[in-house]
Amino acid sequence: MPFKNKEKAKEYFDNYNQKRNEKTKKALREMEAKERKCDLDNFKYATVLITSEGNEMHLCPNHLIALATRSLEKHEVLKLRELYGDDYWIYDMFYSDDGEAIQPVC
Ligand SMILES: [Zn+2]
Repeated sequence: MPFKNKEKAKEYFDNYNQKRNEKTKKALREMEAKERKCDLDNFKYATVLITSEGNEMHLCPNHLIALATRSLEKHEVLKLRELYGDDYWIYDMFYSDDGEAIQPVC
């Protein structure tokens, strides 16, 4: 891009850098917004599991595995029931009323 003088060139590049910085900050803000903590231990990056009941459970790798193998701890089951109510994954066929795992897959 041809510039008439150094001042015009400086103005152009300052403007360019400012816009680039704004785009970078915006992208970082969007990334932070996508960060989802685990429902059970606040682990920073959780997978969102959308269950057949339409619940969006946020679970870290360890808790996702525990959920899939029906081997969550009692207090974890109670916490998920508190957050999501009745859901297939924490159904009373897999866990007792007080959260004890009845059919863990081992
Ligand atoms: Zn977790």
